[in-house]
Amino acid sequence: EVALNIPDKQVDSVCPYCGVGCQLTYNVKDNKILYVEGRDGPANHGRLCVKGRYGFDYAHHPHRLTKPLIRRAGMPKTGEFVMDPDRVLEVFREATWEEALALAGGTLARIRDTHGGAALAGFGSAKGSNEEAYLFQKLVRTGFGTNNVDHCTRLCHASSVSALLEGIGSGAVSNPVMDVMRAEVIVVIGANPTVNHPVAATWIKNAVKEGAKLILLDPRRSELARHAHRSLQFKPDTDVALLNALMHVIVSERLVDEAFIASRTIGYAELEANVAEYSPEAMAPICGIDAETIRYVARLYATSKGSMILWGMGISQHIHGTDNARCLIALALMTGQIGRPGTGLHPLRGQNNVQGASDAGLIPMMLPDYQRVDNPAARAKFEAAWNTTLDPKPGLTVVEIMDAIDAGQIRGMYIMGENPAMSDPDANHARAALAALKHLVVQDIFLTETAYLADVILPASAFPEKTGTFTNTDRLVQLGRQAIDPPGEAKQDLWIIQQMAQQLGLPWNYGHVSEVFDEMRRTMASIGGITWERLESEGAVVYPCVAEGDAGEPVVFTDTFPREGGRARFVPADIIPADERPDAEYPMVLITGRQLEHWHTGSMTRRATVLDALEPDPVALVHPLDLERLGVKPGDAITIASRRGEVVLWARADDSSPVGAIFVPFCYYEAAINRLTNAALDPFGKIPEFKYCAIKVTSGGEV
Ligand code: SF4
Repeated sequence: EVALNIPDKQVDSVCPYCGVGCQLTYNVKDNKILYVEGRDGPANHGRLCVKGRYGFDYAHHPHRLTKPLIRRAGMPKTGEFVMDPDRVLEVFREATWEEALALAGGTLARIRDTHGGAALAGFGSAKGSNEEAYLFQKLVRTGFGTNNVDHCTRLCHASSVSALLEGIGSGAVSNPVMDVMRAEVIVVIGANPTVNHPVAATWIKNAVKEGAKLILLDPRRSELARHAHRSLQFKPDTDVALLNALMHVIVSERLVDEAFIASRTIGYAELEANVAEYSPEAMAPICGIDAETIRYVARLYATSKGSMILWGMGISQHIHGTDNARCLIALALMTGQIGRPGTGLHPLRGQNNVQGASDAGLIPMMLPDYQRVDNPAARAKFEAAWNTTLDPKPGLTVVEIMDAIDAGQIRGMYIMGENPAMSDPDANHARAALAALKHLVVQDIFLTETAYLADVILPASAFPEKTGTFTNTDRLVQLGRQAIDPPGEAKQDLWIIQQMAQQLGLPWNYGHVSEVFDEMRRTMASIGGITWERLESEGAVVYPCVAEGDAGEPVVFTDTFPREGGRARFVPADIIPADERPDAEYPMVLITGRQLEHWHTGSMTRRATVLDALEPDPVALVHPLDLERLGVKPGDAITIASRRGEVVLWARADDSSPVGAIFVPFCYYEAAINRLTNAALDPFGKIPEFKYCAIKVTSGGEV
């Protein structure tokens, strides 16, 4: 039996889950992954978390789509998902690739020709490679003729990116995670790295052991609190009050870095005037943190030799997400805690390639490398490179596209590897919108909740079944290598995108994936110096890497910021309350997020044997005092309702959230919590307010 489990090949690749970008090796026998081992990559040095190590056998799951599917005539799009592969053929019939592609692409082409490109939209994927993201956005822009292309960055860090582009001219991190080992003070705000970036959390813990002081700022207490020097559990939705109070202390006690402000920034006077009203004494009752603790943390951050801020979606997923990030940027700028090792700003990117997909232009207002579509010079460059004419109007974002379907403006969509029926806010509305499309093409590896609403489903390849580049949260471009073949008639995504492009009249015929990467290098200065050969030999290269032979720059903004005049900009922020506050009818607060064992909408990890065995059921994390008040015992069913819907889950006693706030992971199709969330958007990043909406909870219900 031991001999049977000896791999016949080992393939070096990267983890398909989070943005940490751990390098791993697939051990394969007879086209099956036996086990996974960590490699000595720059981000993980051999470490893997439970998802990276055990979350691989989804690729072999019997639910895999192996043939193109076409919705049967007259079969209604009910919006109700059935997780039963035996019933797939009640709704869909199997088809040849020729028939499916002709119907999928041909119908989109007819909509374009009849109603114009603005009647179409596409969602690409942060789980696909850079090359897939690049070709997908190119297809939408040149084949559909619209900028209506987006992906899940809109749901995670769009507000952070909006503030970073505005303030410092670049949406990516200034320093890698590993710089926590060089920091004296580490601030983690609105993030739970132990759960969402587990290997990054291990480096934070190592840094604390080496003497760094960890400051946690979060309404929810995370496992990292055990390692924290101070843990400030401020009231939900009061980020700007707390951060402005910290800045007030730094200004009033003259702890600012005057030389840095004078030589490298603009707009400080407005910022200083704005924070004058936010004294710790005035903000303490609002944010729930006493004034002396606010003063202590402000002094510590400002006066250390190196302070680094890492943040997550607790900052970004608010209607004031951009304001939250503006405050973090201002903190770093006013103290000069940026531009050196062991300092800086690090928005922890979620998916394994959300950084790369955004870099590659999978966003409606930007061409690749964040070149604005409404900038004539940028457009001209891509028109020449792609031999086409581009739409100058920025496209619609994820939630705006759903609203545009309601309005009859968008009639057809192509969705590759995303699951908006689970991930969008107000998911009942999102499902109704998807069902209302005249034509929906979904390219995926499973019959997801979104694919269930499709007209045509194109069976695609799982992560270990293809080769491509992936960019982690540190701006490291890494090579993922094909380890196994796709099952049945499933095809590689790059092939499918090109076939769809041909149906839309684009004569694409890229050979090896490196040909796409080479085209990207020619149009994206930031990665212009990264050759495929170097990726093959080194496995990972950090950008900016402008010319061949450049080492790449792990720490940026050392001398200048990529903004006008080379200076960063302070942008003041004031308190804006959440869109939907608790009231008599809906008296509690819902916070959504992820679990360690499951990934986003669960389509992969809930089909990974070990991970689903660890967390098999939909749960809500409820404070014990709330359980007592509700008359509910741990393990009982509870019904959670908002103004938009209700779900039933199992209650789990958990005091990490404050009394009155319930945390629910969004990975469970049986209790899709995004049926309840609020689609109100941050006006700049257009990100929904996943971290706060009003709910009521009652005992009982059927899970
Ligand atoms: Fe994968 Fe992230 Fe875990 Fe690393 S930390 S193994 S990249 S999920």
